[in-house]
Amino acid sequence: MTETLDIKITKAEQTRLAVTDFSELPFGKVFTDHMFTADFENGEWKNLQVLPYGPIPMSPAISALHYGQAIFEGLKAYRQPDGKISVFRANKNFERFNKSADRMSMPAVPEEIFMQGLSALIQIDEKWVPSQENYSLYIRPVMFAMDPYLGVKASDSYKFVLLTTPTGPYYSKPLKVKIETEFTRADEGGVGFAKTAGNYARSLYPFEQAKKEGFDQLIWTDSVTHEFIEEAGTANLIFVINGKLVTPSIRSTVLDGVTRDTIIKLAEEAGIEVEERRVSVKEVIEGIENGSLTEAFAAGTAATVTQIGEIGYKGNIYTLTDSASRTVSNGIAQKLNDIRYGLAPDQFGWNW
Ligand code: PMP
Repeated sequence: MTETLDIKITKAEQTRLAVTDFSELPFGKVFTDHMFTADFENGEWKNLQVLPYGPIPMSPAISALHYGQAIFEGLKAYRQPDGKISVFRANKNFERFNKSADRMSMPAVPEEIFMQGLSALIQIDEKWVPSQENYSLYIRPVMFAMDPYLGVKASDSYKFVLLTTPTGPYYSKPLKVKIETEFTRADEGGVGFAKTAGNYARSLYPFEQAKKEGFDQLIWTDSVTHEFIEEAGTANLIFVINGKLVTPSIRSTVLDGVTRDTIIKLAEEAGIEVEERRVSVKEVIEGIENGSLTEAFAAGTAATVTQIGEIGYKGNIYTLTDSASRTVSNGIAQKLNDIRYGLAPDQFGWNW
């Protein structure tokens, strides 16, 4: 049995619940009353605590700020019909967190610290987990290098933090996306498979350029030929081609998304054939033109399934089928939501 850790609890003097408007929740801006923190120093994790959400004292020399040794995760907790709270596939996010840590030369966070910290934090901020339909509590684990040292080397000290923020329904119309053929999100041998800060920093400029051209989001292509599709913005990309679910295979440049993995398992269970392989831009454009590509969507924790309505490529716009008629993705998205909210049997044991 795992030991129960000693987590120091310091309660906020006042809750901000009463002054929080749950009908107006911009993503990631409203934090719950508390946070969890732990410090890695002299080779061990210590100072496990739940404390009021607020500023963290740090030196302006910390290497996270200068050299980007910083990683994060994103997962969600859902209110169940019996009032209990369930975190979806927390274990997958925990594992990916430590994969990112390893690539960025950071120490692993022990499973019991991740899980017990999360459990302690959610219990103390229990009332912050929304009960309204399609609402959830977004959980943001983050770790960053704390050495106040300007030499370029892996830090010896780190801080691990869990933040939680209630989020509302993610209304989204089908996206107009641009297949990016100049800039790339990730390269072979790089850090694309890790959820590390720099991956997101480098994506901002190309994204802003695409927005100026009237697009909502980008489709990233491979950095060598720009002929193969990798991801969509900060989500994985899935197509329905000839009735099969087709998605770019996981490689060093593609994040192994929890939602993507979940959708693949639900599709297989429903008897839908799944192909994880390289997907070329040519195949996608031709599929839209000849009608064999019937659905395209982005899959991620924030929005679950976001339909893609139009794809821009080399100055042309290709329009996909009406999103209401997309029975494969809409069916899977519904099933996934039902499991997360405890409205359908959790036969895979995903709810914790
Ligand atoms: N790709 C990238 C680059 C992402 O940032 C995310 C969001 N975490 C995803 C894919 C989707 O992953 P998940 O389904 O685990 O949220």
